[in-house]
Amino acid sequence: MLFRSVSQSRYSGHNFVCFPVTIVGGVSQSRYTEEWAYRLLAPKKTLMQKLSGVIKSNPNGFSYLDKSIYKVRYRYSERYSKDNSRDFCVQMMRRTNNGVVYRIEDIDAASNLGINEEHGHKGKPYDLFRFKGGVNCGHFWTEQLYQRKKNPDGTLKEDKALSSNEQVATIPKTYQPNPRGSGDANTPPIDMPNNGHHPNNK
Ligand SMILES: [Zn+2]
Repeated sequence: MLFRSVSQSRYSGHNFVCFPVTIVGGVSQSRYTEEWAYRLLAPKKTLMQKLSGVIKSNPNGFSYLDKSIYKVRYRYSERYSKDNSRDFCVQMMRRTNNGVVYRIEDIDAASNLGINEEHGHKGKPYDLFRFKGGVNCGHFWTEQLYQRKKNPDGTLKEDKALSSNEQVATIPKTYQPNPRGSGDANTPPIDMPNNGHHPNNK
């Protein structure tokens, strides 16, 4: 099931304003107008340039998954190591090894921009949150939870950077995120039904 409309309703299960979503070429674009404009104007870039320019990991920027003193980020992770990993996966793992984590918005923006689209069904942009590096890929997203650090006197530290927060194993259930697609996000495509293939794939 590669190539599914990206983030059409990722946001609908939350207490956030749902923006009208226009579907063009199967992806939602209303939230990412700037990036789309950028894509139209930008000369052709290498995958690495696109990754660093687009998924520019703004780890402490606002994410709609953040509530109260809790934050949720995602780390690109490897379950099966292969010598012939795709360029996208190699670059993403390199970033992971440098400690890079992403907001769901960053991942959606990359999906909408068609990063790694050559591995999408019929070469089209696809949902990187659900399908990572594409069919047969051995990578997945690890959810990382954070909680704001406290000062010695018990007050909350100022939220200057992600480092003002500490990674925690769990957060209270009411703050746990469940964005659309999260059921697939932590499974490598190679372990998904049909190895993550689009249903129309013959
Ligand atoms: Zn992969």
